[in-house]
Amino acid sequence: MLLIQRRSAILSEKTLDLSRRRNRRWLLALACLPLLGMVAAFGIAPNTRTEAVQLQQVIQELPLVLPAPAETASTQSYWREERIQRGDTIASLLARLEVDDPDAVKYLRTARNVRSLYQLVPGRTVRAVTDGGGELVSLRYLHGDGTELIVRRDGTGFHTSEEPAATQTQLVMASGEIRTSLFAATDSAGLSDAVAVQLADIFSSEIDFHRDLRPGDRFCVVYETLYNDGVPIRAGRIVAAEFTNDHQTYRALYFQDNQGRGGYYTPDGKNVRKAFLRSPLEFSRITSGFTISRLHPVLNVWRAHKGVDYGAPAGTRVRVTADGRVQFVGWQGGYGKLVVVRHNNGYATAYGHLSSFAKGLRAGLRVNQGEIIGFVGATGLATGPHLHYEFRIGGVHQDPLRHAMPPGQPMMREDRTAFDHTSRSLLERLDLIRGMNLALVN
Ligand SMILES: [Zn+2]
Repeated sequence: MLLIQRRSAILSEKTLDLSRRRNRRWLLALACLPLLGMVAAFGIAPNTRTEAVQLQQVIQELPLVLPAPAETASTQSYWREERIQRGDTIASLLARLEVDDPDAVKYLRTARNVRSLYQLVPGRTVRAVTDGGGELVSLRYLHGDGTELIVRRDGTGFHTSEEPAATQTQLVMASGEIRTSLFAATDSAGLSDAVAVQLADIFSSEIDFHRDLRPGDRFCVVYETLYNDGVPIRAGRIVAAEFTNDHQTYRALYFQDNQGRGGYYTPDGKNVRKAFLRSPLEFSRITSGFTISRLHPVLNVWRAHKGVDYGAPAGTRVRVTADGRVQFVGWQGGYGKLVVVRHNNGYATAYGHLSSFAKGLRAGLRVNQGEIIGFVGATGLATGPHLHYEFRIGGVHQDPLRHAMPPGQPMMREDRTAFDHTSRSLLERLDLIRGMNLALVN
């Protein structure tokens, strides 16, 4: 049941070449031929073609067929790839790569510039080319940052270089259901933290991910993943996302306007980002597990003290919820270290009990929505580390959780045609993955 929740599917025929030998498992693959060949430009180029999507759902164990790298052109050489496992040593790794070469072992153990390989980060990939006798011809180790360590042998010995890994971008789709936390759900959907945080960020004007999530909430994402010879290096940008929170569904599509500014829009062209963020806390794996229940019960009642309290570890980054100008930075009675920011139309926000302020923050400074202004602490009258957040309109305290936020910058009219064009194929993808979910649930 709900197989899709635990797997991501890749919208490309290349998927069939990408499944890892050491990670053999049941994958859900989409054969989606009409979409091939437009992956790189998709979502950005205004002239992206939209074609009928023919979906064939395939659930099968995918065989490993890795593309042969250039070094294997010679019939004398053998190419192997291994994933580093916990407890590996250089020697055990080389043995699995069928490198039978004392000189190479000595070089890899002692050379200064191959140090990054010593860390033997489990899960990373090492590829080696050997000759028929097991002598090392070349070795490639992909770093987490997208660069590649390359060791090559020539007539004089071994040489090491570090080069940017050649990358290909693929679109990947995933979906999941919240049972305990967003990270638990994104983990089981195989999404990286970078994608989870992006997802929370995209909908941060609609959903307070610290407070609003409910069991049964669902999400679908389409995001870029960068590959090097079939090895995923890292996740890129989310190009389309859907989030259903408490039975209400929000959709966001990435679009770059004719000035080159990217942003997320609803299918009917409204900016997903509103003038205010729902939460002043930066969402992260660390803060996601904290709830208001850790606080003193009296403080939990909004009416009692005209603010919202966010329990969070000391040091958690606090971001300003809207563009504005800093009005106050300093100590103020029970608030402890406090920042007050003035926004348009008589709005103001206040952030109390901070442990410290962002460097250089002072009254009069302009700040942009999402900018870090300080760090969670317990200064002033606080029973433990938490952020006290106030939202005022015309000097009157309001409950930000109940207040309808003003909309963000709308899309320029001249961008609308291009947006409609790209959004159609993005929506088709979201529909695809949601359709698959339903098929699997039923
Ligand atoms: Zn408070």
